[in-house]
Amino acid sequence: MVERHGRVRLTTRLLVAYAVVFLVLIGGLGFLVDLSIRGDLEPGELATVRRDLAAAAALAGLVGVVAVGVVAHLLARPLRRLAAVATAIADGHVDLRPERSSVTELDRLGVAIGRTASELGSRLRQLEGERRRLEVVLEALDLGVLLVAGDDTVLYANAATEVLLGTRPVSLSEATPVALRRIVTDARAEARQTQDEVEHGTPSRILHVTATPLDDGGVLVVLEDISERRRLEAIRRDFVADASHEMKTPVAGILASVEAAETALVHDPDRVGGFLDQASASARHLARLVGDLLDLSRLEVAEPQRQPVALDEVVRDEVERAAPAAEQAGVHLEFDVAPVTVIGAPADLGLAVGNLIENAIRYSAPGGTVEVRLRVDGDVAEVTVRDTGIGIPTWALPRVFERFFRVDAARSRATGGTGLGLAIVKHVVERHGGTVDVTSELGVGSTFRMRIPVSSA
Ligand code: ADP
Repeated sequence: MVERHGRVRLTTRLLVAYAVVFLVLIGGLGFLVDLSIRGDLEPGELATVRRDLAAAAALAGLVGVVAVGVVAHLLARPLRRLAAVATAIADGHVDLRPERSSVTELDRLGVAIGRTASELGSRLRQLEGERRRLEVVLEALDLGVLLVAGDDTVLYANAATEVLLGTRPVSLSEATPVALRRIVTDARAEARQTQDEVEHGTPSRILHVTATPLDDGGVLVVLEDISERRRLEAIRRDFVADASHEMKTPVAGILASVEAAETALVHDPDRVGGFLDQASASARHLARLVGDLLDLSRLEVAEPQRQPVALDEVVRDEVERAAPAAEQAGVHLEFDVAPVTVIGAPADLGLAVGNLIENAIRYSAPGGTVEVRLRVDGDVAEVTVRDTGIGIPTWALPRVFERFFRVDAARSRATGGTGLGLAIVKHVVERHGGTVDVTSELGVGSTFRMRIPVSSA
């Protein structure tokens, strides 16, 4: 009857209360009756009356106990049902509602429990919605996000973590690279945010790791792949070094020629003209180099232009522009163009086609042929520039589109090359959503092919 922690069932409590009230009432009543009849009756009669009264009291008490028991049971049953529903709601069944009761107080209690449940349900749904939104954001991030608990188990790892580490670790001891574990343990030991760069995987990635200790002993780890940034920084560094180096040659040429001209002015005036010619050739080379560098940086920075361009006209113009150079080099220039419109920047497309034609002439011997063709292949406009020139060795083919790459730097410079022409071509073509490739055979010739998607406009 007595439950845990000194709690007592409702039935027991009502029965005890009833017993106390009954005994006090019956005791008092019995005493009063006994007092009033004591003087009027014979001792024998008094004993009989007392026995009868006691029997009647005992019977009444028994009937009362049964009645109280029944009432208590009837009251306790809906309360037990309410308790069961409340327990189920607390266990997460927030859609359950207590049934209505005909007893006002019980009904009010049930309604209150129902309102609490619906409030709890809406809060839970709100929390769940926020949790989902957060998860969608975390899963969509490029950054790896990892939550490590105080006991080193991994409580959460997003999709990017898997991409960056190759796995979603279950515990810190499983996480590689080892340096990552060190950063996490350092952050925890020193109770401050710790950052470092680690190298991981094949091909190797450079990861920037930030570990932030949390109040509960956990650590929030953020991983960022900075390989591409580092690669671009290296390219930029190399580019600045290469560009400076390339500029040094014509600048030194100009200085040397001008100095020689000054000396010649005094000692040998006939040679002044020759030195000035050399200075002006170097200056022209410098101007070409600067022009190409400006083109490259503009192509990298400026927004691509998007207007309909009659590519056949662009190609025809470039062929015409190159005709005098071809004639001077003794190279036969042929062209065959089909009408086609693409979307893009006419000047840039002209620059690209012009560079290919210029190269084809420059790397051909007198008597050679350069063939420029434009045709439409499905939804792609294809410009082909074929020459019968010196060709490109196989090892150099994958590198010819790199900035400042030349198979033969001396020949390139001697013929006015800057080493940037094909890099510009590649930039232009890629900005137009196209591709450029080359096939070549040493001593036989080369074919460059630009493929640009045809506009549907
Ligand atoms: P450059 O100003 O030196 O011509 P490019 O970027 O235009 O620079 O070309 C890079 C290198 O590719 C050239 O130096 C040359 O070695 C090679 N090349 C380009 N076009 C041809 C071609 N048509 N025939 C042979 N070699 C070529």
